[in-house]
Amino acid sequence: MKILITGGAGFIGSAVVRHVIDQTDDEVINVDKLTYAGNLESLKDVSQSSRYHFQHVDICDGQAITQVLNDYQPDAIMHLAAESHVDRSITGPAEFVQTNVVGTYTLLEACRQYWSALPEERKSAFRFHHISTDEVYGDLPHPDEMEGELPLFTEESSYAPSSPYSSTKAASDHLVRAWGRTYKLPVIVTNCSNNYGPYHFPEKLIPLIISNALAGKPLPIYGKGDQIRDWLYVEDHARALYTVVKQAQPGSTYNIGGHNEKKNIDVVLKVCELLDELRPKTTPYRDQITYVQDRPGHDRRYAIDASKIEKDLGWKPQETFETGLKKTVEWYLNNAQWVEHVQSGAYQNWIKENYEKRS
Ligand code: NAD
Repeated sequence: MKILITGGAGFIGSAVVRHVIDQTDDEVINVDKLTYAGNLESLKDVSQSSRYHFQHVDICDGQAITQVLNDYQPDAIMHLAAESHVDRSITGPAEFVQTNVVGTYTLLEACRQYWSALPEERKSAFRFHHISTDEVYGDLPHPDEMEGELPLFTEESSYAPSSPYSSTKAASDHLVRAWGRTYKLPVIVTNCSNNYGPYHFPEKLIPLIISNALAGKPLPIYGKGDQIRDWLYVEDHARALYTVVKQAQPGSTYNIGGHNEKKNIDVVLKVCELLDELRPKTTPYRDQITYVQDRPGHDRRYAIDASKIEKDLGWKPQETFETGLKKTVEWYLNNAQWVEHVQSGAYQNWIKENYEKRS
């Protein structure tokens, strides 16, 4: 199978590319614009494979996407390219509308044309797999507000996004579903909870806390830190996505989660505890915690019911939060250079020299 992966230089996309190259015989075409969040260093262990190809392309460029589709003739698309950071979406929503909505539309149209011209057998086997977030469902009741068993997001939950990020992802989910229903493009949508793990850009909670802690900087916590997220180790997500693209029926949707509901403050305290053990210093890392003004519109609780994917496709996470978080902290301790490159902008200069001059 030839799989075209958009956003394959990002956090989750690179985990999917590494999974496909390392664990399967399939071929990958990685299509990525290389924004600040895309980093080819995350793929250095697999980029020499003859089954790996890279195209420096913006998904909003329909002509370039059509060219890539015609050149490589993929059997499936896994669409992960997106602007993904909620805080950035609040200060600059335009880029989110452009990539997440216009980009997804452009990709759908290019894929529809390519797919319509395929021979019947390849046409029915083709899949357009759209990778989305549980944030499209808005938030759930928090234990502070409700007693007893708390509800979870299911595939039937209604869409009620709160942030510019989640609203543009919701819009892209709707476009994908509509292209499935109207044009019969064989689409699949997955909505996943918060991921954590290696190669995560240090603006998101867990890698930000690790890198600030090591640099002796404050560890910022929004509000009281009582927001609840449902954490999934990124390699478990990559395995789930590959299972879905191989096995799921067109038109299906799956929620993916790790059954790990944690308050942000507890996640931060756990990271501090691991750093105290693995990189001890004279004072505990938790002393660096600083409470800052909450994010506007901040969702209070997300939690996923992942029983459908477990039942239909037999996928289950392999990591517990404890094992996954320890692996993550160890990875950041052993890969300071990767963090330094993405933070200093050294990597962006390298892209300019190697790609932008050429185009
Ligand atoms: P990321 O920000 O780390 O990576 C995004 C990638 O997309 C980068 O490589 C970037 O260069 C690329 N990209 C951005 N705009 C592009 C464009 N116009 N054309 C081509 N490439 C472009 O994101 P991530 O955390 O890896 O998330 C990947 C996908 O998974 C996103 O669609 C996100 O909504 C979804 N998701 C993320 C999480 C999470 O916890 N990170 C959870 C659920 C779903």
